[in-house]
Amino acid sequence: MKQKINLRLGLIALVAILTTAIGVTIVYYSLFQKQVRDDLKQNAWLLVETNVFQDAYAQGIESAKKLKIDDPGNLRITWIDSDGSVLLDNDTDVSELTNHMDRPEIQQALETGEGESTRRSDTMNMNTFYYALLLENGTVLRVSTQARTIVNVLLTALPVIGGIVAVILLGCVLIGHLLTGQLMKPLEVMAENMDEGGAPVYKELEPFANKIRSQHENILAAAKSRQDFTANVSHELKTPITAISGYAELIENNMVDKNDEVHIAKQIRHNADRLKSIVNDIIKLSELDNFEMTGTFENIDLYAVAKECVNDAKTLADKKQISLTCKGTSAGIKADKTLIREMIDNLVQNGIRYNKDKGSLFVEVLIEGSHPILKVKDTGIGIPADRLDRVFERFYRVDKSRSRQTGGTGLGLAIVKHIAELHSAEITINSTLGIGTEIVVRF
Ligand code: ADP
Repeated sequence: MKQKINLRLGLIALVAILTTAIGVTIVYYSLFQKQVRDDLKQNAWLLVETNVFQDAYAQGIESAKKLKIDDPGNLRITWIDSDGSVLLDNDTDVSELTNHMDRPEIQQALETGEGESTRRSDTMNMNTFYYALLLENGTVLRVSTQARTIVNVLLTALPVIGGIVAVILLGCVLIGHLLTGQLMKPLEVMAENMDEGGAPVYKELEPFANKIRSQHENILAAAKSRQDFTANVSHELKTPITAISGYAELIENNMVDKNDEVHIAKQIRHNADRLKSIVNDIIKLSELDNFEMTGTFENIDLYAVAKECVNDAKTLADKKQISLTCKGTSAGIKADKTLIREMIDNLVQNGIRYNKDKGSLFVEVLIEGSHPILKVKDTGIGIPADRLDRVFERFYRVDKSRSRQTGGTGLGLAIVKHIAELHSAEITINSTLGIGTEIVVRF
């Protein structure tokens, strides 16, 4: 990031300096050109004022050609006759000069009284500025001077520009360094204080900070729930294991009365069954955690599966003389059939286990809009309102002893919720204490 900021700053500075240098040079050069032209004009007029040329011409062409002018520095003076032939030149021998009629400034002067032109000289990067003035006797006086071209000016200024660029670039690197340091500091502080939840220094970073914070919270929550789960599992397994171990110890020490042997064996089997159920449910949950959705879903009829589950629950229901009803219509869903069976089995079994003797259980499948719905309703003991949102938690039971007595593990509804989530289904629960419970799964 630092490198990027430095590079950008450097680039901006470079472009700024170069455009400024070029702009300033263009403005300066146009002023400079104007100055050169004005000087030339002034010189020409001064020369004409002296009347030297007019007087010499009046005395005949030969005397005109003999006129001598002191070398006025870099000013070249050329005097041209009305036919274009050169009468006098302070720079070059007249005999070497061709007719000047073709020169634009001469033509202009002959036509309008004065003429101007600029030509690039052969010499490196120099321009020659000409100013021609028509005299009363028909001859033309031309003055010219050489001046640098704009490229020449730029090239001359290049070392200075280069120096400035170097200094400013160095400044940019320093400023970039300071700026990134200043910019990064609040980010570092934010990263360190992520847990405390203070607002970030830059409001643009708020969504980013919130996202990280919520991910962080999720990770912590997941870790906490894993920890709780492990602790719960250990606790749940400990009770039947301790019981089995205790009974075994009694047998080992010959402390069991002959008459109690069957009772002890029953207790061992009961606790072993309990262990089996807990381990089975844990395996189911862990399978659901690692469930790969891809390609396993098929089209199934929710009503057909519900009927199968209700039929299978008959023996359990008969024990408490609970009447089972399953009604509804065929409803196609894309699902994993084994999981849906597991889900309905759990709901139906709960509806029987937490029911009153001679109670009823109604299972219904219907379609609302485009959503297949499963309803499992019982006339059982109900769930207190303040526990309703907890019954889907792993190992949560409203009444521990009742759950254990009926072979519950406290994982049934957690499995139901997990299966519903895998099928993007929504679960709602309604319950009235002493009246009954209704669970609705909306696909
Ligand atoms: P369990 O194996 O204990 O039945 P679940 O996860 O299936 O565990 O249910 C959690 C708790 O929710 C149960 O212990 C019970 O207290 C309560 N519960 C579940 N279904 C019903 C129901 N149909 N009627 C009343 N209480 C229920």
